[in-house]
Amino acid sequence: MTEAPPVALTIAGSDSGGGAGLQADLRTFTVCSVHGCVAVTAVTVQNSMGVAGYVEIPPSTVADQIRAVATDMGVAAAKTGMLSSAAIIAAVAEVCDDVGIGRSVPLVVDPVAASMHGDPLLADDALAELRSELLPRATLVTPNLDEVRLLVGVDVESRAEQHEAARALHALGPRWVLIKGGHLPDGADDGLCLDLLFDGTDFTEFTGPRLATPHTHGSGDSLAAAITSALAHGSPMPEAVGYGKRYIKQAIAHAYPLGAGLGPVSPFWRIQHPW
Ligand code: PLP
Repeated sequence: MTEAPPVALTIAGSDSGGGAGLQADLRTFTVCSVHGCVAVTAVTVQNSMGVAGYVEIPPSTVADQIRAVATDMGVAAAKTGMLSSAAIIAAVAEVCDDVGIGRSVPLVVDPVAASMHGDPLLADDALAELRSELLPRATLVTPNLDEVRLLVGVDVESRAEQHEAARALHALGPRWVLIKGGHLPDGADDGLCLDLLFDGTDFTEFTGPRLATPHTHGSGDSLAAAITSALAHGSPMPEAVGYGKRYIKQAIAHAYPLGAGLGPVSPFWRIQHPW
């Protein structure tokens, strides 16, 4: 018998192409040395060309999965990905309160609204629920610039606006905000991408070169899952974000083409090839 690793729970959708969603989360958890558990929210029909459709899991079944895992297995950190509907968000918020996720157990909210191809993964009427029910419970929220626009109506085109948006998002209740600047238009900066962490008082900047690859499918999920892994290991937030940034930089650098569209970021750089 060996000692159990820390447990992380992802509340997320399935990507049949295996590049994003719960598949990316579980892979990331594994290579970051945590045991991954899953509450499935939706099953997408998806490949490298986009999302052709999805079916939702009943909200009560989503909540039951969370409760089953949290009451038995000792969840050390949790994250949300695709939540699909207002009813699922309401069910998740309620059960998280019951089992301490978002209080004693850190909760990372990746406010997924659409795929990289622009396919919707969140109902329009679910945004209000995400804002009012989930963000106040989040230990960390990790929007990209499109999600920032949806959540707080700020169209970020400069570093100054990225700071302004962080303040607006923090006012919605999360303990920490990480605004991913990867999508900041070229010319608005110096070719570097800035991810901005804010706790309501202090800003911490994470900068790195923008990597030129179209194969970044699952990058948002994988970053949030790596941060969640570090939190599950007990890292304080700034260190956990730094760990996630180092992880995703390598995962993007090792991304591979797969199918005719956008290939996935790779966890394989963390693994020695055994053959
Ligand atoms: N499919 C599912 C189930 C997801 O959760 C996500 C993102 O979280 C995506 C697709 C989209 O991933 P990407 O934006 O990397 O294409």
